[in-house]
Amino acid sequence: MAEPVPPAEPAATPRPASASARGGEGGLSAPTRHPLAWRDAAFYDETALHQELERVYDICHGCRRCVSLCQAFPTLFDLVDNSATLEVDGIAKSDYGKVVEQCYLCDLCYQTKCPYVPPHAWNVDFPHLMLRAKAVEFRKGEVPASRQRLTRTTAFGKLASIPVITEAANAVNRSPALRKLAGKLLDVHPDAHLPEFHSNTARRRVGKLLQPGVSPQAAGATRGRVALFVTCYGNYNMPQAVEDLVVVLRHNGIEVKLVERESCCGMPKLELGDLQAVDRYKQDNLPVLAQAVSDGWDLMTPIPSCVLMFRQEIPLMYPEDAQVQTVKRAIFDPFEYLMLRHKAGLLKTQFTTALGRVAYHAPCHQRVQNIGPKTKELLAMIPGTELEFIERCSGHNGTYGIRRETYELSMKIARPVSARAQKFAPDFVSSDCPMAADHIAHGMKDLKNAPAHPISLLRRAYGI
Ligand code: SF4
Ligand code: SF4
Repeated sequence: MAEPVPPAEPAATPRPASASARGGEGGLSAPTRHPLAWRDAAFYDETALHQELERVYDICHGCRRCVSLCQAFPTLFDLVDNSATLEVDGIAKSDYGKVVEQCYLCDLCYQTKCPYVPPHAWNVDFPHLMLRAKAVEFRKGEVPASRQRLTRTTAFGKLASIPVITEAANAVNRSPALRKLAGKLLDVHPDAHLPEFHSNTARRRVGKLLQPGVSPQAAGATRGRVALFVTCYGNYNMPQAVEDLVVVLRHNGIEVKLVERESCCGMPKLELGDLQAVDRYKQDNLPVLAQAVSDGWDLMTPIPSCVLMFRQEIPLMYPEDAQVQTVKRAIFDPFEYLMLRHKAGLLKTQFTTALGRVAYHAPCHQRVQNIGPKTKELLAMIPGTELEFIERCSGHNGTYGIRRETYELSMKIARPVSARAQKFAPDFVSSDCPMAADHIAHGMKDLKNAPAHPISLLRRAYGI
């Protein structure tokens, strides 16, 4: 293996002759994450980016631990193995983007595999290097318009939730011929599963459930008062699960309100490398969310990717922003919150309905939050419930599971997960990420029930 090329940009650290000293492999220091220097001109310098890609690709080539995580690493190792030199220096720079294209920023390599993350002197942050490469591509105008359209989740949802358009959108979804046509506009594979749209949105439905009548009680890190960030997907595509979340929270003595207004969390735009759009969404959301925290509310969203956005990605983009830090500290995953309440004896555990066999998938964007398998722990408390716990990538990963170029690969990634769920013969397939649950179910036959969000299963178990 050739010596890796030292990085040119200031944020990166050259690979030292020996990494066994302070900051070396096997060191006991906790992993840290450097802020993302996305506002510096150097971030978009293509020569510096290529040098850093070459440096990190070379470390990965010598390591290869992540080969089974996603398609990005096999793509890199195939490029190396088919090059003239059998080293990273034999890969054409114009092929670097093939690796970037396969990364959907799940963060698993950073959080679960890589021994070279900071404070290690080799300073490998593979997901954020991929993000930087995506941002450079986006700035150069290399991201097709069809992909950009696909990530306009708020605008899409708003349009598709107008009653007559809801019907039309769902009809297009069900018609193979119309799907083919729409697929060209949006870069969607004709066989990909697309969610239904609902004109009776979650924000409309939940408004009726929020009458007074709950006396909140603080416990530990929770204040017993939750301001809900419904999310685009929750609002337009899974309003029932959001309603179920509100009913479960209130059943457990937690006061709930909706945040005053909300835009997309920004994750779909982050995955595209459109950091200016992430910034616009951040400007919309953060003052409202920070105000809710100042007014005495905890924050919650039902989609793990959106929690991760406020907990990790936005704080790394704006490390100096007080509102961002306030929101980061106050936002919770629903099952994390309920299990914190359980610790204080404040969770109701009288269940009336057995769930039977549940194939439960823990999504990557929840796993990398390092909160532990709280959903699994809570579902396991329900009598008459047998869980098949699946901790493996579902292959959906934002738009990766529906785009024409990546759909087949995403189904390949999903295949072992769907097969494992199928073998278990579940009554329910479930994941905290509703898109992951749908994608897994899409690869299965003979489902007994439609995929269900774990919070909907919890409501069912309560019999409320
Ligand atoms: S962040 Fe996820 S998709 Fe990207 S390279 Fe790492 S494991 Fe693969
Ligand atoms: S990201 Fe880290 S663990 Fe994964 S292949 Fe690269 S160096 Fe190895």
